[in-house]
Parts: sequence; structure tokens; C-alpha cells
Amino acid sequence: MKKSRRDFNNLLIRGAGSFVLAGPFNAARATLGPITPNQKLGIVLVGLGSYSTYQLAPALQQTQYCYLAGIVTGTPEKEKTWSDKYDIPKENIYNYENFDKISENPDIHIVYVVLPNSMHAEFSIRAANAGKHVICEKPMAMNVSECNAIIDACKKAKVKLGVGYRLHSEPYTRELKSIVHKKDFGEVRYVTADAGYYSGSNPGQWRLNKALAGGGALMNMGVYSIQSAIYGSGMNPVSVSAQEFSTRPEYFKDTDETITAQFEFPNGATGNIMTSHNVNINRHYSNFENGWVELNPANHYGPLAGGSSDNRNWDFPHERQQKLQMDDFAKHILHDAPNLIPGEMGKRDMIIVEAIYQSIKEGGKKIPLDLGNMGL
Ligand code: NAD
Repeated sequence: MKKSRRDFNNLLIRGAGSFVLAGPFNAARATLGPITPNQKLGIVLVGLGSYSTYQLAPALQQTQYCYLAGIVTGTPEKEKTWSDKYDIPKENIYNYENFDKISENPDIHIVYVVLPNSMHAEFSIRAANAGKHVICEKPMAMNVSECNAIIDACKKAKVKLGVGYRLHSEPYTRELKSIVHKKDFGEVRYVTADAGYYSGSNPGQWRLNKALAGGGALMNMGVYSIQSAIYGSGMNPVSVSAQEFSTRPEYFKDTDETITAQFEFPNGATGNIMTSHNVNINRHYSNFENGWVELNPANHYGPLAGGSSDNRNWDFPHERQQKLQMDDFAKHILHDAPNLIPGEMGKRDMIIVEAIYQSIKEGGKKIPLDLGNMGL
């Protein structure tokens, strides 16, 4: 008999603030096959929707340190299309029910979870329990306790965990981070970050369903605004206040349409972020003691564009961001290179997301944040 998604969900027992895996998957631990430093790591994509189809799979045709080894899909028709197109052997094709058998497959080193947000924790934890390294798409999970559960499962299984924040491997973003880190223009005084797009044509999509998305614009594009406010200042905020706006409540019945929030940083700098499913916007601005940097666009698939108050060159060659991101994660596994996007970063952002929703609920009240250096 086929198992339903609900059956699998029943195997995830919510404890006090954390997920625990019960049932057969705890026993399904397996080790990865031996890895040699010059081999390409096999990636399996879980969920073959638009991001996997149009971004990740094409990027995996260009990667140097990893390749598309397998797929996990709930849609049987996609199995043939993908295996024909990408020459994927039958034994590397899974569905959501038999996914745990991946523990026995030495071709697969990394499981990349590209499903609706409500399924990130389940599949990241099942991947870790199968002994595989994990990349989990953004937002990392539905809430902080799910982030903790993913981090714990990866630690327990001794596998690496990365989040799908592709911009950390992107050259314009790296230049901004370097300017902030090296204090080229002195201390940061102000940042602003906007990320949104107009959603209007598909009221049935999962992104407008709170049970699947966890929230609206904030969970989708807002995490980019949070990210860039932090890497564009080099600091975690110490407080946040937030407001929500709705101009089309008939379309956004279940999720937030537009949110603005204000950050306070430990050095007294301030930040304004905005995210929306009603506005096409995509930009970042950092103001320093002695200059400024602007990225516009700042977070789409590229090429990005940048400028600053000095005469530096902002003309970087364009490569697929996802190619760079997945190669960086593979190098982390193969060569112990730094993990640019650890699970703690995804968890930190979720703490901020929860504080933003709390502030809105409490009429814009300032919510203190105690993040230390988490995710920096
Ligand atoms: P999508 O709707 O195009 O694809 C979702 C996939 O999940 C489909 O293959 C669908 O069949 C499958 N699925 C399984 N159960 C489902 C359910 N109950 N409802 C709906 N779909 C279900 O979405 P997408 O744009 O590919 O996004 C997937 C994930 O990737 C999301 O977490 C999203 O935030 C993330 N994403 C990240 C980026 C980025 O730039 N890092 C860009 C796009 C999407």
C-alpha cells in the first residue's frame, strides 16, 4: 500500500521545541561511500518544480565539484523526462515514499531539498538520517524549532548542512561583504534592503497558503532583505520593529503581502527593510562613515549591478549563482573550505522572521534580539 504524506508526517513527533524522528528512519542510518578529493559529488534534487527545473539542474551541468546524480519526485511523469534529459540512471530515481532507501546509494553524497517550505524539515532530517549531506532551500524551515531539529539531525549524523542562500557565492555580493568586513568606508551607519515581486495571477499557489509556506512575502523574499541588511552591515540586529500592509486582501487571504521593518544594530546604526508580494523591487544600499555602496538589482539570478562612492570596478563576470553556490558547498565537503551558508545562518534569519511577526502582532512593538554572532 502506498504511504501518504500524512503517514510520513506522523513519523515526525513534535517534542518540546524540537522534532524527533520516530519509526524506521532512525535505524536507516548509513555512511557515505569513500570520497576522494578529486571526485565530483553526486547531488540529488528533491522536488522538481521551477527552481530545480530552470536553475539548479542547468547549473549542475556547469559545476566542477558536483553533478546531478539523481532526482526525488512525487510526479511519476517527471521521472522519464528528467532521466532522458540528464541521463539519470533508474536506480538514482526516488519518490517521497521510498526516499529513505537513498541511504544505500553510494552515488548520492548531497541531498538538495527544493520543496515547499513546510516540507524542508521533514526531508532535511530524513536526508541526514540517511547519512547524506544536506542543502536546504530558503527559508530554512517554518519556524525556529524546525531549524533546530534540522541542525541537530545533521550534527547527530555528522553530515554537513547548507542553506540555499545563493548570493554568498555571487561576486557583487562578495564585494559588498568584503567592503563591509575590511571597513573600506569606515563604520556602517545605515542600511536599506528591499526584496519583492508582484504576485497576481495564481491565487492557488502554495506560496499563498500559510500551511505550506509558513507566511507570505516575508518567508519568501523577506529573508533576502534580512540577509542583505546583515551582510551589508556586518552585524546582527539587536532589535526589530515591524508593520504589515495589505492593498489586495482578496488575493492575499492567508499570507502577508507587504512588510516593513526597522533594525537597530549594536553600533547604533539603523536599517530599514521592506518585502512584498505586491511590488517589483530588488535593491540594497549601505551607507558608511565615508561612502556608500548600492546594489540594484541585489538579489535576482543575475547579472547583478553595483556602484559605490569610490572609483572601484563593479563589472564582474556573470556565472550562474547556483553553480557557484553548489560548488562552494562541495568544496566545503571535499576540501574543508568554509561553509558559506551554515544552518545557524538560516536559523538566525528565522529568529528574526518570528520577531517581525511578533512585532506586527503587538502593534509594531520593538522586539529585542539576542543573536550574538550567530550566522555572521
Ligand atoms: P514550485 O512550486 O515551482 O515547486 C515545488 C515542488 O514541490 C514541485 O515539484 C511540486 O510538485 C513539489 N511539491 C510536493 N508537495 C507539494 C505540495 N504539497 N504543494 C506544492 N508543491 C509540492 O516551487 P519552487 O519555486 O521550485 O520553490 C521550491 C523551494 O525552493 C521553496 O522553498 C522556495 O523558497 C525555494 N526557492 C529558492 C530560490 C532561491 O533563489 N534560492 C528560488 C526559488 C525557490
